[in-house]
Amino acid sequence: MNRLVVMKFGGTSVEDAVAIERTARIVAGRVAGGVQPIVVVSAMAKVTDLLISAANIAARGDRASALAITERLRIRHKDAATQLIASARASAAPAAQQDHEQIGAHAWIEAEFDGLDEILRGLAAVGELTPRIADMVVSYGERASSRMIAEAFVRFGLKAVHIDARHCIVTDAQYGRAVPQDALIEQRLHQHVVPHLAEGRVPVMGGFMGSTEQGVTTTLGRGGSDFTAALVGGGIDAGVIEIWTDVNGIMTADPRVCPDALRVKTISFEEAAELAYFGAKVLHPATILPAVKKNIPVLVLNSRNPENGGTRITALAARCRSPFKSIAVKKRLTIMDIVASRMLLSHGYLRAIFEVFDRHKCPVDMVSTSEVSVSLSVDSNDKLPAIAADLSKLADVKYEGRKALVCMVGENIRGQNGIAARVFQSVRHVNLRMISQGASEINMSFMIEEDDAEEAVRSLHAEFFSDPDPEIFDVEARTKI
Ligand code: ADP
Ligand code: ASP
Ligand code: MG
Repeated sequence: MNRLVVMKFGGTSVEDAVAIERTARIVAGRVAGGVQPIVVVSAMAKVTDLLISAANIAARGDRASALAITERLRIRHKDAATQLIASARASAAPAAQQDHEQIGAHAWIEAEFDGLDEILRGLAAVGELTPRIADMVVSYGERASSRMIAEAFVRFGLKAVHIDARHCIVTDAQYGRAVPQDALIEQRLHQHVVPHLAEGRVPVMGGFMGSTEQGVTTTLGRGGSDFTAALVGGGIDAGVIEIWTDVNGIMTADPRVCPDALRVKTISFEEAAELAYFGAKVLHPATILPAVKKNIPVLVLNSRNPENGGTRITALAARCRSPFKSIAVKKRLTIMDIVASRMLLSHGYLRAIFEVFDRHKCPVDMVSTSEVSVSLSVDSNDKLPAIAADLSKLADVKYEGRKALVCMVGENIRGQNGIAARVFQSVRHVNLRMISQGASEINMSFMIEEDDAEEAVRSLHAEFFSDPDPEIFDVEARTKI
């Protein structure tokens, strides 16, 4: 049996000393059960956001405000370390030893944050934030959390060892969204991680960050720690990849939007990837690719409720009598309407349009065409005026932001009649801007105003999940409420 399990803990699962202690207990429970974990951790909750704002503020020349942010982060990490030491040693060690350990932990935290402050001072002096420096700054979140958590695990009795993820996760140099180099990663994992496993140790590494072959720090994109977990799982041929988060698993809708959302007990790779791409934040879109390639099951679990069964993502979808498994929403989108004023759509026209998006490296989410016009949706971003200017050489262009894409996902859409009618009946009160079904056989999506999104999700949820299939959805949780 393959006993290797990658356990990834997200920001809320390591947000403070209490959460980290809970994480240590979960890992210790797995070790006691004969499993060999490799732990991947995110930065403590909200730290990445704060580091991004510190970098932007510094680059605008406001050194004092940037350093005030890192000062708060420094204190937060030191406080967590102090509490963890106290908690682990409460009964076992004399106070003198606690003091000694605390001095050690605080010394490296001070050194890390001194290094970060140096970069921010440099940024304030130069007044320019390059993507390369931005990656360097945000990596401090995972650098600090992973080291602190590895040390805490040791104090809680685990044979843990800290691994600098940048030695293993080799990427190209596309800062902010670096592309992992699978073959090199596998080689590095065998060099830096596998020997520890052979010695029965628990490697702990930060997610999200990597480095180029030349050793320059990179990151994998927001939410990228899930991706790290899958890269590690794929690289060492793990038996399972566990994504530990703050909800009971993948739910039928974002529970923050739809409080009666149900846990989906099992979902296919294809469905989960579609949901992730279309905004279900619970998984990073690219996460599961390395797992799919090697057919490694992925479990999504709740670190605040570890007994819960979570969601199991597998290669094939289980049979389900409901057409959909879940509803995702992607906000902050812009619709561009491109109308060919001079000519009907001729061959080569669409290519010319897409070449513009390609040149600006701007991915397109949804497309619909008529005889003379093309509408498409893109993430709202600051390249749009330049894109519109280029497109206006080909056609008339209008664009409008604050749109949301609602995406209903399920393998059972194919072959069931009348589903579209039920979908559109449920959202009859909102103004639909674009509709798509067919690009993928497992999703049905439409664009609406951002302000209508939450109500639309709740209406669709009431329509499609009022009589859920108990084989697939956690129906008991609903009856307990
Ligand atoms: P982590 O910090 O553990 O990586 P994230 O905040 O990235 O966690 O993802 C978990 C959050 O994803 C949940 O708190 C929930 O609000 C949100 N979410 C969005 N859609 C879904 C969904 N379909 N199922 C579960 N959670 C979802
Ligand atoms: N800390 C990073 C982020 O907030 C990566 C992650 O949490 O997955 O985006
Ligand atoms: Mg996440």
